[in-house]
Amino acid sequence: MATFTFRPTVAQSPSSLPSGSNVALGGEVLLLDAVWFTRIRWFVALTLLCLGALGILIPEATATRFGLVLPRLWPFALATLLALLNLITLRWLRRIRSGPEMLAVVPNIWFQIASDLVVLSALTTLMGPTGTPIGFAFLFHIVLACIFFGRRDSFLVALLSAGLFLGAVAASECALIPRSSILTSGPTTVAAGVIQAVFTVFVMFVVWYLTSSISDAVRLRDFELDGANARLRQADEDKNQQMLRTTHDLKAPFSGIEGNIHVLRHLHWDSLPEEVQAIIEKIEMRSGTLRSRIGEILTLGRLRSGSTSEVSEMLIVLKTLLCDVIEELAGLATEQGVTVAVAGDDISARCDPGQLKILFMNLISNAISYSKPGGRVEVDVRDRDEGCLLVVTDHGIGISPEAVPHIFEDFYRSQEAAKFNPKSTGLGLAIVRQIGQNLNATIKVQSEVGKGTSFTVCLPTPTQAGAG
Ligand code: ADP
Repeated sequence: MATFTFRPTVAQSPSSLPSGSNVALGGEVLLLDAVWFTRIRWFVALTLLCLGALGILIPEATATRFGLVLPRLWPFALATLLALLNLITLRWLRRIRSGPEMLAVVPNIWFQIASDLVVLSALTTLMGPTGTPIGFAFLFHIVLACIFFGRRDSFLVALLSAGLFLGAVAASECALIPRSSILTSGPTTVAAGVIQAVFTVFVMFVVWYLTSSISDAVRLRDFELDGANARLRQADEDKNQQMLRTTHDLKAPFSGIEGNIHVLRHLHWDSLPEEVQAIIEKIEMRSGTLRSRIGEILTLGRLRSGSTSEVSEMLIVLKTLLCDVIEELAGLATEQGVTVAVAGDDISARCDPGQLKILFMNLISNAISYSKPGGRVEVDVRDRDEGCLLVVTDHGIGISPEAVPHIFEDFYRSQEAAKFNPKSTGLGLAIVRQIGQNLNATIKVQSEVGKGTSFTVCLPTPTQAGAG
């Protein structure tokens, strides 16, 4: 049995074009990055704990043999401080996420970077600002700031890093605090320290310049693509409107043709030769097919255009709506020799009755049209945890497994279907898909060639709809 499920997609909000040179990442992406940042901090805290544990476990003499002075206390103190800062950050992020509207993430990231830099300068002082490569650890925050923020803000982070690092070097070199190092060789000479400090700061600004330039160029390109995407969507909408106007203009000529056929049928039919009657009947049939195609194109266009994709919700008794649809399709069912039955729970749902009716008009008329004479179509309503399930089942020609993934596409008609139902337009399920999208409903198809087809529409309960 071939199966396919159409799930409504979540609409993306268009982003606006950037102004100036301080182009930052969007809120959603920043929030994910902020959470990722906290994970790295747990890892650093763990590394500090391991360093402290090594200081306790490894005898001093062994460490000295490797040229190291392993610390015992301060790694635990710094790890605890980092863990506390991380807990505060995570609480803050949780508040941002559950806020009525997503609050700004930028202050949180600033807090993370600033507190990290303070902890890092303490670590630098304790490990030895000169004589060890610890100063390069500041590069990590500079690179991250270039990714998260625009140029101006990332430059501020680079300045802060350089300032804190130079502060640690100055405090240590000017003996404002006791000079310390994890190397037995101890701190370097003042001159070597100054050269190392200048070189480290130089590298910090070179890395800032390169990373922020690349990151700015990538982000600007991203925004340009966003803008191009918005323009394409607008052009598509304009084209849709133009097509709707043109299609609408076609309605009048077809009404004229049908009006004239009506006159011929009622006033001159008996005086017409049989061959002429046959030609007129063909014209009537073709014009009827074209009129229904025009109607479907207009319905689809209206459903897709921004204004009418809005849903006007009200509480409706689902079985009553389905019975109305079946009554309207009674003529088609009689013509095809098919019976239609409704069963299931008496439930109500909050939904747009107009759109839901169009959806079931299409599903049930398909089920009738693709049933064999004497066939039966069953419509079932079920109340389930995942929402209200409405199932339309027929025992007709079925759909081949290759065709199933394409049936919701505009103007798609399988070859067997086109032969079986010459009036088909290939737009019915495109309308169903659009309504599914508008109503946030999932639509599942199960079909077996020669045995029949079943369409299951899952209408979300109000809470699910809100969450989606
Ligand atoms: P149309 O029925 O006018 O061709 P639709 O968009 O409603 O257009 O359906 C697209 C295609 O999906 C049909 O051409 C047919 O191949 C297939 N299809 C839809 N519903 C059924 C059904 N109940 N049984 C068999 N095939 C179906």
